[in-house]
Amino acid sequence: MNREENLNQLRDKSKIWDIAVIGGGSSGLGVALDAVSRGLSVVLLEKADFAKGTSSRSTKLVHGGVRYLAQGDIALVLEALKERGMLLKNAPHLTQNQPFIIPIYTWWDRIQYSAGLKIYDWMAGKLRLGKSRFISKSETIKRLPAVLQKGLKGGVVYHDGQFDDARLALNIAQTADELGACVLNYMKVSGLVKNESGKISGLKVIDEQSKEKLEIQTKMVVNATGVFADKILQMDNPEAPKTIQPSQGIHLVMDLEFLGGKDALMIPKTRDGRVLFAVPWHNKLVVGTTDTLREKAKLEPEALQKEIDFVLETASGYLTKKPSRADVKAVFAGLRPLARPKEGSTKTKEISRSHKVIVSQSGLVTLTGGKWTTYRKMGEDTVDYFTQITGQTLNPSKSLNQKIHGFTTEIPSGHWSIYGSDAAKIQQLTIENPEWSKPIHPAFPNILAEVVWSCQNEMAVKVEDVLSRRIRMLILDAQAALDSAEKVAQTMAVALQKDQTWIDSELADFKKTAEKYLIKST
Ligand SMILES: Cc1cc2nc3c(=O)[nH]c(=O)nc-3n(C[C@H](O)[C@H](O)[C@H](O)COP(=O)(O)OP(=O)(O)OC[C@H]3O[C@@H](n4cnc5c(N)ncnc54)[C@H](O)[C@@H]3O)c2cc1C
Repeated sequence: MNREENLNQLRDKSKIWDIAVIGGGSSGLGVALDAVSRGLSVVLLEKADFAKGTSSRSTKLVHGGVRYLAQGDIALVLEALKERGMLLKNAPHLTQNQPFIIPIYTWWDRIQYSAGLKIYDWMAGKLRLGKSRFISKSETIKRLPAVLQKGLKGGVVYHDGQFDDARLALNIAQTADELGACVLNYMKVSGLVKNESGKISGLKVIDEQSKEKLEIQTKMVVNATGVFADKILQMDNPEAPKTIQPSQGIHLVMDLEFLGGKDALMIPKTRDGRVLFAVPWHNKLVVGTTDTLREKAKLEPEALQKEIDFVLETASGYLTKKPSRADVKAVFAGLRPLARPKEGSTKTKEISRSHKVIVSQSGLVTLTGGKWTTYRKMGEDTVDYFTQITGQTLNPSKSLNQKIHGFTTEIPSGHWSIYGSDAAKIQQLTIENPEWSKPIHPAFPNILAEVVWSCQNEMAVKVEDVLSRRIRMLILDAQAALDSAEKVAQTMAVALQKDQTWIDSELADFKKTAEKYLIKST
């Protein structure tokens, strides 16, 4: 996946793309992957880095959604369970079967959750990840040593998937690129081009790295910009009403010892009626989330103090060792799109977690809602509109069985697992230059060769791309990431042939961003 080569494809003024996708989060990548699987020519334009938005800030679950089952959304859960099963097959290096334990404090809860999760198992059919079952109090304590034991009656174990969201985004981008799509990060869509009949025929694009301006021609445009969808809808029609109200969810990252085992903790109903997860991830514990209305769509949303307090207090209600602010290694926030209340009403209603495809008069196709787990199906359903928009016939989708870049049946051990079949090639780099076998940070297993690899093969162009989304250190331990920034910048400067001015400006940029992931112990 080479940025310069892809840029050159974009500079070809005579080229008419079948589909141009705006947005390089899970939704846009799903569209690009599905379109290229059907033999269409596709370009995907992301204004920042792949998965810089909500798609790197999830709870890291590949799930059917136990919560949606409780809400009676059967069709959504069935669809998500199928996609969950296929994603675990297609990207085994980035996903895993994760046991979850719901601690049981009342017998009614035992009956309720045991029955509900049996239905969940049954709905997954052949793609089931494991049988749910009730476990005794002593087994619950053995598996979740740090869970609150007062009043504990046992636990219900069930299985869902878990994944590395930003790395999956990257590997999907690489898969699409290898199948012939042109994917580009740091390419902002600044305007829509229309023909005499008011139909969209192209896009105005700015390279955020060089500030070069380009115009491309395309038969269909997909707006897959998540919480930014209204901005594109208003580019299309300045009178378009605002439809999205962002709602923020935060996660706190702490040491694994706060939970104590390999199993994840799921609290289906906290004292104020929310769901709380504490999930082991890359040797840390990710705890969340919240649901807080925010006014603006932002690429770098910040956790509010009250959200941090809420997650700490709620988690403390179920754990023997109560985490404090000082124990939090990093905090990250993401935005989900809610439907904005109609004029005069104060009520918000969540866009159903099942996705929606909306076609504007100009032919602009907007994909909203959904979730990471169903990214591929969302892409397929969107590409299905190609015939309606262009009048051309369309091949059937082949993305369901598409193996994702890095696929291997022999998953490398330790932290190398996430690279799948690329791991050996990265290790090979240390033979070329032994300096690159040095660790990036003493508390992390990552080495400098990974930085070089991400510049050469994964389109990393900024220090933040590497520390946040290629090796995830920023969201695992923000201080460690800050301490590693200089080493990473210097290694990137060699790989990308940059000078000291670039290093200085990157370090200043990274510091500004990374400070938002630190929690002050007040
Ligand atoms: C707190 C939280 C936890 C979640 N946990 C889970 C989970 O565990 N499992 C799960 O399945 N789902 C989960 N989800 C849902 C899932 O994360 C989202 O559905 C998904 O990431 C949305 O992806 P997206 O591509 O629509 O949006 P985004 O990831 O935000 O991508 C939109 C992209 O568009 C780009 N863009 C915007 N404007 C332009 C422009 N003009 N030109 C070019 N690019 C542009 C942005 O830079 C951005 O990268 C969670 C969501 C939240 C908020």
